[in-house]
Amino acid sequence: MQGMMMQQALLISDILNYAAEAHGDAEIISVRTEGDIHRQTYRETAARTAQLAHALQAQGVQLGDRVATLAWNGYRHFELYYAVSGIGSVVHTINPRLSPEQLIYIVNHAADKMIFTDVTFVPLLEAVKDQLPQGLTYVVMTDRAHMPANTLNALCYEELLSGQPESITWPEFDENTAAGLCYTSGTTGNPKGALYSNRSTVLHALYVSLVLGAGYPPASKILPVVPQFHVNAWGLPYAAPLMGHSLVMPGAALDGPSLFKLMDSEQVFSAWGVPTVWLGLMGEIKAQGRKPEGFSEIVVGGSAAPRSMIEGFETLGVDVVHAWGMTEMSPIGTHGKMPESVKTKSFKEQIDKKSLQGRRVFGVDLKINDEDGNRLPHDGVAAGELFVRGNGIISGYFNNEEASATAFDSEGWFGTGDIASIDPQGFLSIQDRAKDLVKSGGEWISSIDLENTAMSHEAIANCAVIAIPHPKWDERPVLVAVPAGEARPSLEALHAHMSEHFAKWQLPDDVLWVEALPLTATGKVSKLTLRKQFEDYTLPELRT
Ligand code: ADP
Repeated sequence: MQGMMMQQALLISDILNYAAEAHGDAEIISVRTEGDIHRQTYRETAARTAQLAHALQAQGVQLGDRVATLAWNGYRHFELYYAVSGIGSVVHTINPRLSPEQLIYIVNHAADKMIFTDVTFVPLLEAVKDQLPQGLTYVVMTDRAHMPANTLNALCYEELLSGQPESITWPEFDENTAAGLCYTSGTTGNPKGALYSNRSTVLHALYVSLVLGAGYPPASKILPVVPQFHVNAWGLPYAAPLMGHSLVMPGAALDGPSLFKLMDSEQVFSAWGVPTVWLGLMGEIKAQGRKPEGFSEIVVGGSAAPRSMIEGFETLGVDVVHAWGMTEMSPIGTHGKMPESVKTKSFKEQIDKKSLQGRRVFGVDLKINDEDGNRLPHDGVAAGELFVRGNGIISGYFNNEEASATAFDSEGWFGTGDIASIDPQGFLSIQDRAKDLVKSGGEWISSIDLENTAMSHEAIANCAVIAIPHPKWDERPVLVAVPAGEARPSLEALHAHMSEHFAKWQLPDDVLWVEALPLTATGKVSKLTLRKQFEDYTLPELRT
């Protein structure tokens, strides 16, 4: 027997309608490319978004058309999210840190109709415009006074909005209509597109609001350092308005001192981003001898949060919430909000739990498989490839049959490529990306575990472990480290520091000191680049 309930499409436009009405005074506070700090309420944002939607329709944008953005976090980027998806077209967020070849590839692959760009990225587009689809319309996201001279024949964002009606009746369409497109950063091969729908985006926003914002004081300020050009800033531009929290958008300045200043002056409650950003902020906190006013939580993900970093923030009274996810998952899969049973434990035990990647959010199912596809127990010991399923997870890659064909197992779950264990309480422990594991003598060594322990040495500011080929053992781990100061401890000294946590054969064979680690387009340490950088390196024991 069927239930007798209405069925109303889950549409992104409803989030903004609701926020404008229920949380109309909450704000979007943005550091702009114009150089100032701009503020507008969700009520004002809804009016401007309606203007933008009318303008898009006037430009001939239709259901299903792709409209690209190349922009920092800010209120105009937020307006694009809602206006583009609201009229049934698809907002394609482009990561400006992609290589020019990748940029050309994805704009052509997505067949974008318009590109909205911040002033910053105009030269980037000018350099590649001849290889982008003909007939693309460019819009620079600024006012007339700040329009740069350009060869794109670009329109001006504020002029586009000007004079358009400030209200709109958003069209109703199937909730499965595509709403957003984000390409993975493509560490191997060409980038692959995750095509989010209205339904998946609304559900993901609800999942995130349920767990992450649940304990926030009313009208908190949240700062997404994680960019809007990468997996929708982890869903915050949808979750924050739903919950009635304000967004503080940092624009282009993501270094420690700039973030500290912004967070301090705005009294940001929670900030979200990848570990490299928090290392920068921690540097500034140490320099100033205090944390930014009101700063109470970080949500950290994208790569493993080092234990020493978690300890550092927790000691300052900042709650560290470790999250894990993927572009293909909208992206949040797990979060590290602690259950009451953990909050009463010792500091060390709490850090132990916070170093894990947290527990699944509602709406995401997790399983781990061995190499033959058999399910492994969730006992905190057995480790295998992590598979996921849920309403926020891709069912295939956009126009890419080849990649789609190998992405799922026989039960239809998506293979993450991560090696993980899950404990009986549901805490996920990511041991490594399958391709980053060091295979030595038929055993696995987790590069994440080694990095975590090495990072707790005072002489190391940042580090990465890579596998180096070995004729007998297959591979051996080598530590590539950025020094914190003048000291360069010997390999023996580092072994002494790490040996408590590892068997002798698991310890790195060498330490290589570098000025900085290469980062991917999403701000993670690029092991692919590192492996290339040390292609010709020979392990000490093999040198003749
Ligand atoms: P890409 O790195 O290709 O741009 P994503 O940003 O979607 O793609 O990254 C997803 C991957 O990042 C995961 O599969 C996992 O390997 C890694 N990752 C994300 N969060 C964490 C975390 N908290 N701890 C460890 N690894 C993480």
